Amino acid sequence: MELVIATRNEKKKEEIKNLLKDLDLVIVSLKDYPRLPEIKEEGKTFRDNAVKKAELVAGFTNKWTLADDSGLEVDVLDGRPGVYSARFAGKEQDDQANIRKLLRLMKDVPREERQARFRCVVAIRGPGGEAIKAFNGVCEGLISFKPRGNFGFGYDPVFIVPAYDKTFAELGPTIKDRISHRARALNQARTFISHLEFNRQP
Ligand code: IMP
Repeated sequence: MELVIATRNEKKKEEIKNLLKDLDLVIVSLKDYPRLPEIKEEGKTFRDNAVKKAELVAGFTNKWTLADDSGLEVDVLDGRPGVYSARFAGKEQDDQANIRKLLRLMKDVPREERQARFRCVVAIRGPGGEAIKAFNGVCEGLISFKPRGNFGFGYDPVFIVPAYDKTFAELGPTIKDRISHRARALNQARTFISHLEFNRQP
């Protein structure tokens, strides 16, 4: 059974693939659909963007589709960068520039005011227009003063998980995949997917 992950970010696809590895799925991504038109993420919420992506991609591919939208919310920045996380510094997915901008804006913010959270919404849509399902996941943390660690992507080097006092980029995939916003949303999605007719053994 094929499931399309509505992303062109291969690292994100690998994270999602790993989180769903116990299901009987063949996972493909938008890299396998080069003719798919670019999808603009213009929604005001993560849910709006995830639902729109799932609808468009399921309509185009005629396959079960899982779309996620995620980002970082920083309290002292009134929830920014939020849905603009990927293009906070301008160019989409320039992780280093996004981190530099975030640390610059927060350079005078003391540790006790550096609370932030990653948020993820996962939306699933069937090929026949089956009702959309959306699942939420949140992971609370703090923004570091300097990037630390080499694993992961995006804001991982500046997102400290207080229980470990380490950034996601220091913790690496084994721990991140247990506690991340995406893991939490996908755990709920996994239960839903495992109950779908298509995933049942004959
Ligand atoms: P999108 O969900 O593909 O629109 O990307 C959202 C953006 O949020 C990414 O480009 C990253 O900048 C950031 N982001 C989302 N999830 C993570 C994560 O797990 N680690 C680090 N950054 C993330």
